[in-house]
Amino acid sequence: MARQPVQRAEEKLKRIIEATLFEGGIGPVTARELVEMPEAEWGILRDRITDYRQGRPAGVVCRCVMCGDPVFIRARRKNGVPYPLFSHFQGGGLRCPWHHGANEHPERLREEQYSGQQESQTHRLLCEQIDTLAKLDTRYISSVVNAYRPPTESEHGRFPDVQVVWRDFPECVFEVQLSRTFQTEISARCTHYEREGVALAWVLFGFDPQRAELPQSFLDVIRRHRGNAFVIDRASVSASYAQRTIVFTCYLENADGGFDPPRLVRLDELTFPEEGLPYLDDRISSALIDRINRARRPCFDYLQSIEGVSYGVEVDSAERQRLLVELRAVASPLSSWETTKEHEESATLRLICCVFSLISEANRKPRIYGTKQPNVVAMLNTWLNSREEVQRCALIFEFLLRSTPLTHLLEGSLGKHIARAKSVMDGNLVLAGEPEWQILEHLVPEIFHRRVREQLRYLSKLPPWAEHEDLPNPSYEPSSLAI
Ligand SMILES: [Zn+2]
Repeated sequence: MARQPVQRAEEKLKRIIEATLFEGGIGPVTARELVEMPEAEWGILRDRITDYRQGRPAGVVCRCVMCGDPVFIRARRKNGVPYPLFSHFQGGGLRCPWHHGANEHPERLREEQYSGQQESQTHRLLCEQIDTLAKLDTRYISSVVNAYRPPTESEHGRFPDVQVVWRDFPECVFEVQLSRTFQTEISARCTHYEREGVALAWVLFGFDPQRAELPQSFLDVIRRHRGNAFVIDRASVSASYAQRTIVFTCYLENADGGFDPPRLVRLDELTFPEEGLPYLDDRISSALIDRINRARRPCFDYLQSIEGVSYGVEVDSAERQRLLVELRAVASPLSSWETTKEHEESATLRLICCVFSLISEANRKPRIYGTKQPNVVAMLNTWLNSREEVQRCALIFEFLLRSTPLTHLLEGSLGKHIARAKSVMDGNLVLAGEPEWQILEHLVPEIFHRRVREQLRYLSKLPPWAEHEDLPNPSYEPSSLAI
């Protein structure tokens, strides 16, 4: 049984949902895995579960593996740090052994929230402020505060806080957030305006990046803005008047989980993506991509040193040593199949040469590592014929080909060699979860790490070389595979 992350006195008696199953590409996620994820990662899962309830295409359903009822991710706090916990929806999990009683009812909580008269007064004033700023711009056509916006695509309209139409500019809706808006509400509004083709910007008030505990609703909104916090404050209002347009104070989340010093940003400087909320700088994707590239650096240094080199895998070098140290931190032993350290190392490096030669082919910049073969098919066919340690990885090659634009190679001679290796090595194949797969999850998460792959796809950042050919991905930036 996984360690219980919840230890607050009043919760000691409550049970937790130990494991769940996401539909689609994500699969099972345990409570422990959830707690160990970076906040941006569990946050996205949390958003997508809520989005599913709102009928948004990017949504996913997640179920309790004990009772099968849908669950969501509840954000709790421990020592000021938010941490995630699976929870049954209201009315669900009633017969579940992991059930821990009734959830707070959102309607009741919402009543409590709006009973603060002072808060709604502040809210009203801020909405009017944004409306006033919108009118400063020469492109101004119309704007309204808290007025019904009839739907064009949806069944029902909504009452956006502020709605602004400028000439030659996306129609914008601003939602002013003080401190407590519910996740379901955030998701519902994001979904609605996306469907309507309207840009939505959440404007925060009372946001203090120095504060140890940001309200969860702020964190949810900031993540949906890809790590950007848009704030209306004195500096932004005075800059708006000076520049005769809407200017926000923008805080960008940095790699330490804190925020860079604020900067003023004009509304028309933002990127308005087709899906999701506008942003100045995509800090969520870039942090993830940086992490991947950093993990891969020693591998690229090594591969460069043996590109086109005959018997390159056996050549010793500083790069080879450094990579092996890195890999042993990921999986030790490197393989459950080889008996000596020497064989284990060269088998792993040979696999890496095969995988990266295939990826460079998928990336349309063919490179051959560790051998002088003229192309990747000749390389793989030769090794699949002659080397047991390569034959044993047949399932890995098959998986890679099926997940990339190279699927067609399964129809040709390479497919035949893989099929042959599979039958020769039947019972002795490297199976998912073994060290070889763990190493590839680490080096090429775009293909081998289920959850990272899903997340990149969700952020429209899955590179084309990791995309199955039926699913092209137009918004790829080529820099993410810089060898
Ligand atoms: Zn359950």
